[in-house]
Amino acid sequence: MQISEHVHALRIPFKVPLNPSLSLDRFVYCYVVLGENICLVDTGVAKSEGMIFDLLGDLGHDPGEIRTIVQTHSHPDHIGSTKAIKGVSNCDVMVHNEERRWLEDIETQFAERPVPGFHDLVGGSVSVDRALNDGDKIELGDGLTLEVIHTPGHSSGSISLFLRGEGVLITGDAVPLAGEMPVYEDATASMRSVERLLGLGGVKVLLGSWDAPRYGNEVRRILGDALGYLEEIDRTVKEIAARDQCISSTLLCRKVLDEMGMHQVPTLPLVARSFQSNLIS
Ligand SMILES: [Zn+2]
Repeated sequence: MQISEHVHALRIPFKVPLNPSLSLDRFVYCYVVLGENICLVDTGVAKSEGMIFDLLGDLGHDPGEIRTIVQTHSHPDHIGSTKAIKGVSNCDVMVHNEERRWLEDIETQFAERPVPGFHDLVGGSVSVDRALNDGDKIELGDGLTLEVIHTPGHSSGSISLFLRGEGVLITGDAVPLAGEMPVYEDATASMRSVERLLGLGGVKVLLGSWDAPRYGNEVRRILGDALGYLEEIDRTVKEIAARDQCISSTLLCRKVLDEMGMHQVPTLPLVARSFQSNLIS
């Protein structure tokens, strides 16, 4: 799907195996920036390279032209095919400094954040060619520049990427979708990051990883809804924890979801861990 003059979107469906008889249907978006060379923003889950190469073929390009992979962060559904694509193209891989070690050693990531189906979703560890920091600029040729905006919260090294000339803002998982299961490491940082994105001028298109492209006035609405949603969660978690200071994290999570009218989910441990971070600040 073409988004702007140089940006194309690809929706990658996948399954998260929860146990031998149950899997969760998910999807993730990754993005192609076609300049003088090709830059991929995230690579989906393992074995997504075929879909990505097919899209490039449809656009008249070859996988060997991929010069750069920029990771919005290092979670499995964003780095899954990076090893395979680097193997084919010998491209440079970039990720925020905070997440470098999780991409370069996936077993460390699994030990610290053991999400269901991890080893089915990730193709392998990859060496990082450039560690990114807030304010960095990634030159793609043809006058195209991706500006790095550090938007931590979902993970410590989550970044957003702004292609200012076309008003395209790619946010990875930094912006939660109101009403969907929130997953973050640091609730306060997550709110500050969404506020920062709300303050960014000139955004014409918002490209998250778990939402379809949002254009024009929808951009501010989606960001505003995300901030309101994070603030509502924060209030609810703190109210319930104040009523029962000995409550377990699992019960707290169930009560928050009940109170907010949300159904229970099989990924409860990840959500429970998110809500615990609301109690730290
Ligand atoms: Zn993520």
